[in-house]
Amino acid sequence: MNNERRSNGVDFHCHLDLYPDFEAAVQRAEQARIYTLAVTTTPMAWPRNRDLTSDTRYVRAALGIHPQLVAERPGELALWETYLGEARFVGEVGLDAGPRFYKSLHLQKMVFRRVLECCSSAGGKILTVHSVRSVSAVLDLIEECLPADRGKVVLHWFTGTRSEARRAASLGCYFSINAQMTQSESACKVIPELPIDRLLTETDGPFTSTRGKPTEPADVGDAVNALAQLRETPIQTVEENVRRNLRALLAN
Ligand code: MN
Repeated sequence: MNNERRSNGVDFHCHLDLYPDFEAAVQRAEQARIYTLAVTTTPMAWPRNRDLTSDTRYVRAALGIHPQLVAERPGELALWETYLGEARFVGEVGLDAGPRFYKSLHLQKMVFRRVLECCSSAGGKILTVHSVRSVSAVLDLIEECLPADRGKVVLHWFTGTRSEARRAASLGCYFSINAQMTQSESACKVIPELPIDRLLTETDGPFTSTRGKPTEPADVGDAVNALAQLRETPIQTVEENVRRNLRALLAN
């Protein structure tokens, strides 16, 4: 048997609590030894996410308030704030200016601003951020409210332009890439130009699918393969970079 330690994948954005059996989904990520960030869409989900990941080796939970839910649940910001002291990871948070959610954009901005201000004053938080059709507005708020030395941001499912990507990188942002986003022609032009030291992988399961089933953390190798192909880099190099980037993100 080969003694070399098998490499561990990284799934930095997965909704484990939205699978039919949350607890089993956590266990599968543990067994697959994938470093997984279990994001939440509402602070109501925090206690169970916190408890189910309190002694896991690979899975961590993030405290979220999803921009798509802000209009229906404006009162939850106060609850989000009460839990922030317990959470190192924050997400899913951000903005969504797509056609279904555009009408709540003003409210979303107020909530996201408050989220960033709270993270800035707490310090040391790591955020996974949604930015559908709103990359500039998201970056404006990050620039204004969360200095790089007060918190770190990972842009999840980034769909911005090359110049927005450069601006995000200059603000210190990371990018988490999933296999499905590499099917977009415009993403395929931007992804090869993202700085190699800011790349992470994700699944965004169960909102993506793999071979006809909801994607799981154990499937994150497909994102690694897609990145390797797009960047014309060996798979092993991508794996090593992603692990190194995760360590850098988690340092201090
Ligand atoms: Mn998501």
